[in-house]
Amino acid sequence: MVTILGRAKINLTLDILGLRDDGYHEIATVMQSLALADTLTLTRQEEGITLTVDLPGLEADERNLAHRAAALVMKECGVRGGVHIDIAKRIPVAAGLAGGSADAAATLRGMNELYGLGRSDAELCALGAQIGSDIPFSLMGGTIFATGRGEIMRRLTDFPEMPVVLAKPPFAVSTPWAYRSYDANPPEEHPDNAAFLDAIAAGDTAACIRLAGNVLEPVTEAAHPVIGDYRARMYACGALCAMMSGSGPTVFGLFADVQTARAAAEEFRSATDAAVHLTQTAGRYGK
Ligand code: ATP
Repeated sequence: MVTILGRAKINLTLDILGLRDDGYHEIATVMQSLALADTLTLTRQEEGITLTVDLPGLEADERNLAHRAAALVMKECGVRGGVHIDIAKRIPVAAGLAGGSADAAATLRGMNELYGLGRSDAELCALGAQIGSDIPFSLMGGTIFATGRGEIMRRLTDFPEMPVVLAKPPFAVSTPWAYRSYDANPPEEHPDNAAFLDAIAAGDTAACIRLAGNVLEPVTEAAHPVIGDYRARMYACGALCAMMSGSGPTVFGLFADVQTARAAAEEFRSATDAAVHLTQTAGRYGK
């Protein structure tokens, strides 16, 4: 039996550079792991893949990304035997936090360990990229600049450990919808990734916070103005930075200290319909 965490992520920057011939968008994003994680327990069984999830409504069959990851490993690595995967789901779903990718990445690592497959990180990333663009990042974790579809990664100096409040409004946002809406009406303002990369290399956290930005934020916010309300509330609660993650709708706030973050989480719990999590930025896998 193997127990493994699949961590959520936020995007400190997210830019879209264009639409590719293969239909994917060319993106450039600084991704950051969070301590908030799903816990996956993988147990050997005679044959086949079975799955249990403690979140009613989340598909617990071959549509689940953890199931797809297990099936891919079994096929590509010629695994003799099966696996039961149990997911304790803590990452909000369809929230811009890459929870499905986190589970797929944890399954790839878990299968590697459970069956002693000896695959390298690079091999696991190549497998993961076949299933989803965020999975290579989820395998590595920490602070990473990702380009291409998100699968080309450059590790950055770790962003400092910092309290994070997540507020997810009570609706889901489909990532394909957000990208389609972007194409229909692209915003003019883009984050400055080059300046962000300089700032993080120089250890200038204040500049990183100033330069953080997500080109999809105005897109999703136009359809869901509550995202703007949450950002304003996050700032009113003392956040150093308040932004939407990925294609949304989760708004995250970065805080200087845990007391202020805890008070902000309480304020969101009492005054809004949001699902609220108090967590922190987390380092690379294995740390
Ligand atoms: P993205 O990686 O596109 O930013 P997201 O974080 O917004 O995604 P996810 O939580 O990964 O969203 O879920 C997107 C969809 O994937 C869900 O609506 C769900 O139907 C499907 N899905 C499949 N497997 C999983 C899983 N293990 N956890 C969460 N969602 C899953």
